[in-house]
Amino acid sequence: MKPVVYTLSYLNNDKPAALHTCLQNSSEFRGPSVIARTRNFLLGTVYIVPTCPFPMSLSDYIRTVPKVELHVHLEGSIQPETLLALAKRHRVDLPAETVEGLRAWYQFQDFHHFIEVYVKITECLKTVEDFELIVHEFGAEMARQNIRYAEVTFSPSSHRWINGIHQDTYFTGLTRGRKRVKDEYGVEINWVFDIVRNAEHAGCESYQVAADYTTGVAIDGMQDGVVALGLGGLEAGYPPAPFAPWFDRARKAGLHSAPHAGELAGPESIWSAIRDLGAERLGHGVRAIEDPDLVAYLAEHRIPIEINPTSNIRLGVYPSMETHPLRRLYDAGVIVTVNSDDPPLFNTTLTEEIALLPDVFDCDLDLINEILLNAVRTSFLPGDRRKQMEVEFWG
Ligand SMILES: [Zn+2]
Repeated sequence: MKPVVYTLSYLNNDKPAALHTCLQNSSEFRGPSVIARTRNFLLGTVYIVPTCPFPMSLSDYIRTVPKVELHVHLEGSIQPETLLALAKRHRVDLPAETVEGLRAWYQFQDFHHFIEVYVKITECLKTVEDFELIVHEFGAEMARQNIRYAEVTFSPSSHRWINGIHQDTYFTGLTRGRKRVKDEYGVEINWVFDIVRNAEHAGCESYQVAADYTTGVAIDGMQDGVVALGLGGLEAGYPPAPFAPWFDRARKAGLHSAPHAGELAGPESIWSAIRDLGAERLGHGVRAIEDPDLVAYLAEHRIPIEINPTSNIRLGVYPSMETHPLRRLYDAGVIVTVNSDDPPLFNTTLTEEIALLPDVFDCDLDLINEILLNAVRTSFLPGDRRKQMEVEFWG
């Protein structure tokens, strides 16, 4: 199917509903009714909407369409320019002193190197202003790609034990940054605080201590945008079951459960994430494909998976994009979302990940739209806000 073709025009209108009505008169219209909303100091709020039937390429459509991201790490989203500035500010030695050099160092080599990069990034984050800065830059990048809402993973225990940073410091920075990006760009961020499975590698005395700490700060942060407890770090050798008590505590407090599972370990890790941690959404989850019963279970119980295609290739989960199971999982009825994980570390963006859908996974426009919408529908926003966002996006 050919993409619907529209050109862009700027309308000054503070009533999106009026735009919806006007667009509904176009029988051909299938896409989002408001592609973007920006602020203009002369016009006030400016809505960018599709109008006349002039050609718009599929890549332009993917670039401009509103997006939601459910699996992206704040610490893994810091651009090399920012890291360089932070390192200078705090006199931290980096393995390279230029943006190009850092960009090369960022590129994934193996999991050990990946952890090394993460630790170095963490060492450069010390003050409230540092955390505010990285959230602000993250929000600016969201606006650039028209990502309107993101559930962003953050690892409190790494900052506590690698760098000795108190919860008030990072959380004040996160909260200020989150408010600024909402005010300046109109984009929204909520947090997934994740327990690091192998926290003892980051100087914590035991995984129990790290899990206890992370769950506590996640619950404390519920009034300021923490919506879920995650589970990250080394998956192989660190099964989900021992973390059950902290997920129980978090769920009782009203947090959602969104552990990583089925990336560097197989179906048994996913089964345990569901049964022991009550996973409502799975980070990665792609290795469910190795167990037909599990694929059927995910489809039947409508447990969505957060797929990160380029991350999977860079980490060697699959040898090539052609062998990636995204399409097979979708065809088997699993609810699929597409995400970017650690964009600069994998040299990607959410827009580029979505562009893989037609280029690699043979998805037509209807299917691209369905996958984009899955991210809105399976987000942890309250039901009424989710519905409102769906309407804002799709009319
Ligand atoms: Zn991840």
